[in-house]
Amino acid sequence: MVYLDNAATTKPCEEALSAVMTAAEMYGNPSSLHKMGIDAEKLVIDARKAVAAALVCPPECITFTSGATEANNTVLFGIAKTYGRRLNKIVVSAAEHSSIIESAKQLERNGFEVVFVPPGRDGVIDEQAFVDAVDSNTFLASCMLVNNETGAIMPVKKIFTHIKRLFPDCMTHCDAVQGFLKLPIKAADFAADLITVSAHKVHGLKGVGALYVRKGIRLTPLLYGGGQEKGVRPGTESVPLIYAFGAAVRKLHPEMKTAYSNAEELNRRLRTKLSELSFVTINSNADNSSPYILNFSVPGIRSETLLHFLESRDIYVSSGSACSKGAKSPVLSAMGLSDKLIDSAIRISFSSMSSNGDVERLATAIQEGYMTLAKVR
Ligand code: PMP
Repeated sequence: MVYLDNAATTKPCEEALSAVMTAAEMYGNPSSLHKMGIDAEKLVIDARKAVAAALVCPPECITFTSGATEANNTVLFGIAKTYGRRLNKIVVSAAEHSSIIESAKQLERNGFEVVFVPPGRDGVIDEQAFVDAVDSNTFLASCMLVNNETGAIMPVKKIFTHIKRLFPDCMTHCDAVQGFLKLPIKAADFAADLITVSAHKVHGLKGVGALYVRKGIRLTPLLYGGGQEKGVRPGTESVPLIYAFGAAVRKLHPEMKTAYSNAEELNRRLRTKLSELSFVTINSNADNSSPYILNFSVPGIRSETLLHFLESRDIYVSSGSACSKGAKSPVLSAMGLSDKLIDSAIRISFSSMSSNGDVERLATAIQEGYMTLAKVR
């Protein structure tokens, strides 16, 4: 099997799987005052420290959520509730994941002014264009670190530093899901007030993520209840998922640089192989993309058709963002790609578990796929 859909989700690492079992057996409620509760709480504390160390921030700044979708919703609605009274505008990149785009559209329906800043043809958000959209009426600016469809790396640090210099009251949020444990992220020098990450993209399990909230930021919660996670995310913590998240982070964090070099090498090899195939167009820009994601098109063959051909060869890829099954990619559209390129776009995404053999098998299968499918067009 060749699994190249790691931007959709990753295989849980052994450390995460064994942590789930350990924590499931230590089944006390972390809020209970007795020893079983305290033991469970220790597991949550341990995971919080691991995530905080990876983001280089104090553990108190980490709130566990059910995933990045919830973290992103919490940011948009929570910041709007706290800070969106005197000020009325938010600015988000048009390349964001649907959990930001749809939340922003809902805020728009609720009466807020929302500006969506489109990426350039290279898929990258332009610093000046983004900053120009922010004004003294803006209370939140949200820009992702790595685009989940193209791998484009956004100049988030520059954008946020620029915004903070001009409008210190504007909150800054980064959805760093596709950059976490791939690119170095130091919360403090990122000029971000809020950062979203998710466990299942880094060999943890689905259903858990984390939100970095800078000290002093007041987030109105989406949920009300028992006050867990400092009231930002009440509800009994999923200790097994959280503890497994911590275990995956502890495993991956020290290997980050080696894994990045491996992804660079795989990306280079795949680009070389694809550039030898005259029928392939590469959509991810070569200069400013994460090596973990490569988007390309085979014009004339619909994404789903090639995807299923590859599946028949036991190779798993994506036709774009897994969260918008079948829908035309708004990101590729915003980049100005033709319908022909968009309809035939394929996304390959590597992980630390990907190998040269995966690239070889993929490249061969794409060529076979073209030969087979082009005939029946
Ligand atoms: N943001 C980005 C950039 C993503 O790629 C994803 C996952 N596709 C999410 C948010 C949502 O993450 P989760 O599955 O943890 O809700």
